[in-house]
Amino acid sequence: TSEQAAAVYAKNIENFAGTGKVPLGIAGPLRINGLHAHGDFFIPLATTEAALVASYARGAHVVTKSGGISAAMLSEGVLRSPAFVFANLLEAGQFIDWVATNEDALKRAAESTTRHGKLISLEPYMDGEIVFLLCRYTTGEASGQNMVTIATDAMCRFIIDAVPLKPRHWYIEGNFSGDKKASFLGLLTGRGRKVTASVVLAKRDVEKYLRTTPAAMLEYARVADLGARLNGQIGAQGHYANGLAAFYIATGQDAACVAESAVGSTRMEDRDGDLFMSVTMPNILVGTVGGGTSLPSQSAAMSLLGVSGGGSASAVAEIVAS
Ligand code: NAP
Repeated sequence: TSEQAAAVYAKNIENFAGTGKVPLGIAGPLRINGLHAHGDFFIPLATTEAALVASYARGAHVVTKSGGISAAMLSEGVLRSPAFVFANLLEAGQFIDWVATNEDALKRAAESTTRHGKLISLEPYMDGEIVFLLCRYTTGEASGQNMVTIATDAMCRFIIDAVPLKPRHWYIEGNFSGDKKASFLGLLTGRGRKVTASVVLAKRDVEKYLRTTPAAMLEYARVADLGARLNGQIGAQGHYANGLAAFYIATGQDAACVAESAVGSTRMEDRDGDLFMSVTMPNILVGTVGGGTSLPSQSAAMSLLGVSGGGSASAVAEIVAS
């Protein structure tokens, strides 16, 4: 019945009216030699853009023929940045002093709301009478946006109760974290998981499967790098958003996080006539639990991917970058 259907989606949607169908294709096998993802993966991609799955499938084929992509998850941490507004900068400075001496209690307050979330760093940023607290969390196998909001809310409420000098206002998110926006902070420090992935494609494979040459690819890379510098891109890359949006929608990740995840840098270089290619993506927000990952179609896509348990979110992040 429609009530039963609504119950399945109740945690993920209000005013449920049905589900919107997006066609789903599969690219792969894609061979990945990662720290967390090892083996041949089939990648679910939900999109209405013709040629997208075909392009990724062709890429997966040539990469797998070449022995696979090397991938490494380098760091993880989801930021929340609550903001506190004081009367003047002297009060703001005193607040930072208080935060520094009470860091352990703040950490305990934040972590009281979650079994898997850990507050791994707490860094103040002051601008006159306004203080942002950059709170970075590891989030287990969840992408963690909700988890870090709930934890930070508990931390802020503890602060408001305990701090002797009260702020005039406070906000759970001061819009500093880069949540769902491309930002320089995200490029430099990462939000979610940072992954670097690279492969060397043999000249003969580039010619046979991509019907071009390493030299032609490198000549294009030179022009594309110039274009990225001239238009002021944050990073320099070619349409990460395409694969990301299709993958996030297929697997129940938060599709709006493509705004921040689609930041990074792509490099192409000559390796004795072969083609070296790499991507480094500092803001991959993916999980194997939570969010929309357990909904019917989305959990089927997650099963196709075949990763679960400890380290699985990092494996998915390596798959995303690969
Ligand atoms: P979530 O579904 O809200 O939380 C994950 C849940 O899974 C937690 O209850 C966690 O319990 C539990 N869990 C069980 N086993 C786990 C494990 N091994 N590792 C980690 N957690 C485990 O999902 P989320 O990832 O935090 O948030 C993603 C959702 O937040 C998306 O749907 C997104 O659209 C939404 N979102 C929210 C905000 C916001 O500010 N509220 C912003 C952007 C997006 P414990 O906490 O006890 O560990």
